[in-house]
Amino acid sequence: MAKTSKTPVATSKPIKPAKTVKKESKKKVDEPKKVQVKKGKEKPQVETRQIEEKPQPKMTAEGLDEKAEFTIERKLITLYNLQQIDSQVDKIRIIRGELPLEVQDLEDEIAGLETRVDNYIQETVVMDKLVLEKKNAIKDSQLMIKKYEDQQMNVRNNREYDSLSKEIEYQNLEIQLSEKRIREYQQSLDAKKLEIEKFQKILQDRKNDLEIKKNELEDIVAETEKEENDLIHKSEVNRNYIEDRLITAYTRIRKNARNGLAVVQIERDACGGCFNKIPPQHQLDIRMHKKIIVCEYCGRILVDEGIVNAIN
Ligand SMILES: [Zn+2]
Repeated sequence: MAKTSKTPVATSKPIKPAKTVKKESKKKVDEPKKVQVKKGKEKPQVETRQIEEKPQPKMTAEGLDEKAEFTIERKLITLYNLQQIDSQVDKIRIIRGELPLEVQDLEDEIAGLETRVDNYIQETVVMDKLVLEKKNAIKDSQLMIKKYEDQQMNVRNNREYDSLSKEIEYQNLEIQLSEKRIREYQQSLDAKKLEIEKFQKILQDRKNDLEIKKNELEDIVAETEKEENDLIHKSEVNRNYIEDRLITAYTRIRKNARNGLAVVQIERDACGGCFNKIPPQHQLDIRMHKKIIVCEYCGRILVDEGIVNAIN
């Protein structure tokens, strides 16, 4: 901001913004043209690392004044600002992206637990039925024993009596067997019922968790939606101040970068994106704000703390 009209870099074309001419003519009345030509000559000496800076005023006629002030430094500031805005949007989306996954995981777990509890309940129903069958079998046996005992009162010989005794004995054994089965079923039933209780408790806990997570998600969506829309709007407005060429590069770098960072600050002599060391000469170039310089390892656009401070 402070250096706005110091370097009228963007226009090496003959058309000179009135403002610039006026200011310069105050100092060097005869030489505004010379200055322009000199600047123009500097342009072609671009390095491969830098995003080429062509003097192409893309603004409308009325924007020429603005364009003249649109130095590389200004572009870097605008790009860094855009990055900050887009990173905030990324952050919001990450937070909002993780919560639905947690909700989905809980819903899956609940569905699994419900199925398990249902199956256990089905098993207890079957066992209850088996217990009832055995109880009925015992009653039948008891009735038959009663009948055989009555018949024993009217037997005509020992053989008949013994035969009935054997039947009674057999039914008694049947009763014992049924009672044993009932005890076994009952044990399984008790164990199953404990399991059902245990899983119903877990299920209830998970349902409570789900309720909390869902509310959290709703709150976050409501809270962040407005913020996100505002940021997206700000991002769009910012993009209008940057030429398409740079926006394209920015978008491409951002897409390829895992953390969504296309513009990074130099931190401890290293790229803030990939952390590779930046040679001193490059650092110097970056601090000059005369070219847009990208990291030779990761391709991210590099800025120094001067640009960062200009925003904060
Ligand atoms: Zn890098």
